[in-house]
Formats: sequence, structure tokens, C-alpha cells
Amino acid sequence: MSGIVAIVGRPNVGKSTFFNRMIQRREAIVDAVSGVTRDRHYGKSDWNGKEFSLIDTGGYVLGSDDIFEKEIDRQVELAIDEADAILFMVDAETGITGMDEDVARLLRKVEKPVFLVVNKVDNAQRLEDAVEFYNLGLGEYYPVSSINGSGTGELLDALVKVLPDAPIPEDNLPRFAVVGRPNAGKSSFINALLGEDRYIVTDVAGTTRDSIDTRYNRFGFEFNLVDTAGIRRKAKVREDLEFYSVMRSVRTIEHADVCLLLLDASRGFDGQVQNIFWLAHRNNKGIVILVNKWDLVEKDTHSVKEYTQKIREAIAPFTDVPILFISVKDKQRILKAIETAVEVYQNRSRRIPTRKLNDVMLPIIEGNPPPAIKGKYVKIKFCTQLPTPYPQFAFFCNLPQYVKDPYKRFLENKLRENFDFTGVPMSIFMRKK
Ligand code: GDP
Ligand code: GDP
Repeated sequence: MSGIVAIVGRPNVGKSTFFNRMIQRREAIVDAVSGVTRDRHYGKSDWNGKEFSLIDTGGYVLGSDDIFEKEIDRQVELAIDEADAILFMVDAETGITGMDEDVARLLRKVEKPVFLVVNKVDNAQRLEDAVEFYNLGLGEYYPVSSINGSGTGELLDALVKVLPDAPIPEDNLPRFAVVGRPNAGKSSFINALLGEDRYIVTDVAGTTRDSIDTRYNRFGFEFNLVDTAGIRRKAKVREDLEFYSVMRSVRTIEHADVCLLLLDASRGFDGQVQNIFWLAHRNNKGIVILVNKWDLVEKDTHSVKEYTQKIREAIAPFTDVPILFISVKDKQRILKAIETAVEVYQNRSRRIPTRKLNDVMLPIIEGNPPPAIKGKYVKIKFCTQLPTPYPQFAFFCNLPQYVKDPYKRFLENKLRENFDFTGVPMSIFMRKK
């Protein structure tokens, strides 16, 4: 993780085209592994080895242009608040519009790096026309064509220079993030953890950002809670927007080892909760799902089973995730939630010795080899866990390109059956040997 980049701008300037171009290469890999489709407005990209998150904030604003006009202040404000750098996109085909001027006015006051990106510069004529964008008063601009990619290299060179480096954790304690939609009970949960009510939720917006970690020692566990200040700080009215809750979650999630995803049982595991789930998954974080406000739900003996089943269907194929039913109000299973988060943290750090891994996996593979393609047989000879912060496994074989996703999922399932990786996303690579 080395920064969050937000793309802002009025509709139709090409934000989503640009966004897609930036994340394409990586997403293709990620999605091939997991086989799921997710948030189309949040993704990861990298340039010269530096990784960053890219957010198309406009993608979250639904509805017509006039609704957008009302939202644009918020969108920009939010980007200013949460991003490390802002790409302000305008359109060389249409030239400067009133809305562009409004956004420019907001951005001129910002202390964060702002990149004025003049899109649709597909030819030499447009390049000449682009000079008018100096009038926005934002200084230098970057002419690009999101369609053919020209100019994007120069932009990315400049962009990654201003992005922060990944923070180095100060200690080896687990870093937990409490995430979820507004009103799920996040602040109440944290208060319950602290065991006192001194962190009362208030609606005071704009308080300066506290340090991102706060250290706790509770129930015999030591851990850091990530960005709890942010959770407490924000004015609630503004939070009930999808792009807001995504923006809010991204930074918190990226800094965490394990995300405690809280949801309101009476509202269910809906689309927004799922988006946050996939956000955590995409960032390879450990996940514990906490179905809160269980006290509000009318229950019979099947309720837990049915509710669990529904969530597992929504998160397939990554179903090996703990799901707990809690009530912060009645102080039910809060300790269990933390215990489980600690277990997930341990699972994420789990390293299987190569010898043991091969002893378990090679007989399984022998009994159930990858299907032959065009008469060619894949022989997996050896596997090893890579020395990365979250579980990644490499399987060495003669024809890696012939091993398809279903077989990789088979391997993942077998790994999960034999070793405890509950709550932790993993990656499987086939390598040439
Ligand atoms: P958004 O509303 O800002 O996300 O804009 P879109 O990405 O949906 O793009 C709006 C339109 O502009 C689409 O028809 C795109 O194909 C087109 N477009 C995007 N980038 C370029 C570009 O670099 N050159 C040209 N000529 N058209 C583009
Ligand atoms: P946040 O926006 O996610 O931080 O949510 P809050 O912690 O502010 O909680 C939102 C509302 O849900 C508050 O009125 C809480 O009192 C209430 N709440 C939180 N946990 C529970 C619970 O377990 N049961 C019930 N019935 N209400 C809860």
C-alpha cells in the first residue's frame, strides 16, 4: 500500500475509461484467481513498482447531471479529505465548462497534490487546444488519451513521486480495523471494547486526523485498532453515501491486518456491506464477519444457520470466513469476536514448512491431477509457500499456463482443509519448473 488516488471531475470526461485502463492489467490477474466481480470504481494499480489504490469517485454518484452538480462539492471534499493525491479530469473535446470551474475553485485551496488531467487528447490538434486549461488556475496539466493511453506514462511518473511509501509498523501487534456501513454499531463496538464510554460518537466534523493506530490491551490481548478516530469523527449524515463509505473504509482497511466487518442484522448483508467485504478481500486482509444487533432479530433454532448460509452464498467462493452473531448492546460475544480476530491474524501469519506442505499436497495432486489439455499432461512437482505477509503458494510444474482456475480453487480448498487459513484470502500461482 502506498497511497490513495481519487479521480474527480464532471460526468463524461472519461474518468471510468481512465480508471479501467489503469487497473486492467492487475484486475485481470486478481479476478482470474478468485473468479468474482466486484466494485467497479475501486481498484489497485501500480507504476514503477509502486502500488496505489485508485478510486473513481464519480462512479459512486448515481443519477443525472443535475443531481451530480449537487454532489460534486461533496465528492471533491471527500477526495480532499481521504486521498493522498487527486486527479482532476477535464475534457479537451468540450473545453472548460462551468462545472470544471467550480471544481477548480475547490481544488485551488487544497494542500494535497492535485493533477489536472486533460483527457481525450487523441491528436495534435487537441494538444494545442488543451492550453486553454491553464485558465483553470491549477498550473501545469497532463494531456492524456484514456482511449489510446498516450500521456499516461508522464502522468503516472509524476503521480507516484508524490505518493507516500507504505508505512512501517512500529510493533508486531495485530492491527484490527472495525469496518461496516454507518449505524452498524462500529463506535458502540469500540466503546464496548474499551470498556468505558469515553469515546462517545459526536457529529463534529473536521477535527484533525488523529494518528492512525491506537493501541489497546483488552481481555488479555494486545492489539492496535486502526483509525478508530475516523470512525468516531465523521458526521453521520454524510456517511450514508456509498462512495463515502468506500472512501472511509479504504484507508482503514489498507492499514489493517484483520478487518472486523460489522453489519446490522436487521438490515442484512446487503450490497454496500458486500462491497466493503470485497474491499478487504482484494487487499488480502483477514476478515471476521460480525452480525451485530442480533438482539433485534426474532429468532428460532434455524436463524443462525439460515443467516450464515445467506452470507456464505454472497461471499462465495471465499466462504472460509468466521461469521459471529453478536450484540454490542447486550455485550454478547464481544470477547469471542476479538478472540476470533486474533485467530484470523494468526492464520494470516501462518507459514507451512515446505516439507510438510509437499507431504500433504503432492499425494492429493497425484490422486487428482489437473485435467489434460490437448493431450498434454501437467505434472506438478513441488510447492512452496512464499515469504509474503499473507498466504501465497507457488506450485511448480511443466506447463503452468495449462492449469485453469477450477483446479487452482481445488488446490486452495485442499490447503484450507489441511491447514487453518480461516478468514484469510490466499493466492495460488503456477510456476514453470
Ligand atoms: P465518466 O463519466 O467521466 O466516467 O466518462 P466515461 O469514461 O464514461 O467516458 C465518457 C465518454 O468519453 C465515453 O464515450 C468514452 O468512450 C469517451 N472517452 C473517454 N476517454 C476518451 C479519450 O481519451 N478520447 C476520446 N476520444 N474519447 C474518450
Ligand atoms: P456506527 O455508525 O457504525 O459507529 O454505529 P453506532 O455505534 O453509532 O450505532 C448506531 C446505533 O445502533 C446506535 O443507536 C447504537 O446504540 C445502536 N446499536 C449498536 N449496537 C447495537 C446492538 O447490538 N443492538 C441494538 N439493538 N442496537 C445497537
